[in-house]
Amino acid sequence: MTRLREGGCLCRAIRYQVNGDPIIGGACYCRDCQHISGGAPAHGLMFPADALIVIEGMLSTFCLDVASGNTVYRQFCPTCGVHLFSWNSQAPELRSIKVGTFDDPSDYQSQGSLWVRSAQPWHRPDPDLPQHPTMPCLTELGG
Ligand SMILES: [Zn+2]
Ligand SMILES: [Zn+2]
Repeated sequence: MTRLREGGCLCRAIRYQVNGDPIIGGACYCRDCQHISGGAPAHGLMFPADALIVIEGMLSTFCLDVASGNTVYRQFCPTCGVHLFSWNSQAPELRSIKVGTFDDPSDYQSQGSLWVRSAQPWHRPDPDLPQHPTMPCLTELGG
């Protein structure tokens, strides 16, 4: 059975639907995500890009060239500033959706921690989950 999830930003200008099961989910401890979250890691669920439909609102996109030479695209609500989606130019067919933007994020389970070399001493990665110093490839994640 196909699962349909809905979510959106804080001001409700942006609303989206995503169909099916996530490929993988986890917490990213990179400095960029710390800037966006306010300090904590960013929890994201990865879906195929074509599973995601924005049903209301217009997103703004911020592009940042990262050390790997790739570009990271981040989409956010221009009114309330909440970040919802991101992807890397290396894998444009995927979308990471910020778990906190789902209407019901309660059944999310992290499968690992990324970029733990940037984790802060006051926000340690879960010791019971796999920890990756940077961004592993999907096969390494088991996704
Ligand atoms: Zn908004
Ligand atoms: Zn990150």
